[in-house]
Amino acid sequence: MRFQEIKNWTPGYLNVCPRHLGIRVRCEACGIEKDFDRDALPFKFHHAHVEDIEAKLKCECGEKRARLIFGSLMGDD
Ligand SMILES: [Zn+2]
Repeated sequence: MRFQEIKNWTPGYLNVCPRHLGIRVRCEACGIEKDFDRDALPFKFHHAHVEDIEAKLKCECGEKRARLIFGSLMGDD
């Protein structure tokens, strides 16, 4: 599966993000990108604003400059 980022788009609140979209987290300090598993979030964040979730995420590089990016998962064909 390939991740096609939707540029400059956020659903606002995580719970309104359609389930078919993929979510990744990118650190704006070191540039690392990882898959983001919304189901692994504590329950209190399930209805949180995306910016509030970003503020809680700490990268392994030690910075808290995470951005959630949303995109379509495209099959490789
Ligand atoms: Zn980082």
